Amino acid sequence: MIEDNVCSNDYASMFIRKTNMNNKEYIKGKETITLDSKEFAEKLVIASEDENEVCGLMFGKDNHVSEITMVRNEKPSPSYFEFSSMEAGEAIFVAMQKKLKLIGVWHSHPQNEPNPSMTDYDYMEAHPGIWTIYSPRFTKWASWIRVGNTIHPVKTMIDYNE
Ligand SMILES: [Zn+2]
Repeated sequence: MIEDNVCSNDYASMFIRKTNMNNKEYIKGKETITLDSKEFAEKLVIASEDENEVCGLMFGKDNHVSEITMVRNEKPSPSYFEFSSMEAGEAIFVAMQKKLKLIGVWHSHPQNEPNPSMTDYDYMEAHPGIWTIYSPRFTKWASWIRVGNTIHPVKTMIDYNE
């Protein structure tokens, strides 16, 4: 089954580009990210209760994700997502006020393994940073980063220490 999801949002994309993410720089010494356990558990529950893809943005400092936000999926589907431009913009604005950096994008694959689809691959270019995918069906999660034409896995640890 080929999953066909997308996050084609010009506004969010522009905003993300403005944060000046350079994935080549990003991956140096940052092949591991940690996710705040509470934030992660909450989103995992939400993802597992929704038959459609859920999505959002990840913020934090360095390689630690301290806030995982929800952004409304404008085109609800089990195999597709598209950010609400307003909500994505708001989430970025709020995070900037808190001096948090945008670390990446997350979304769920209700039916599939947490591997990037072809559409994810395409959109990873427009939305740089780390892409974390939750797969509630398989109770798996995985993160990825695209550098050039290659997708690299990013080790994803849950931080229970906060
Ligand atoms: Zn996907």
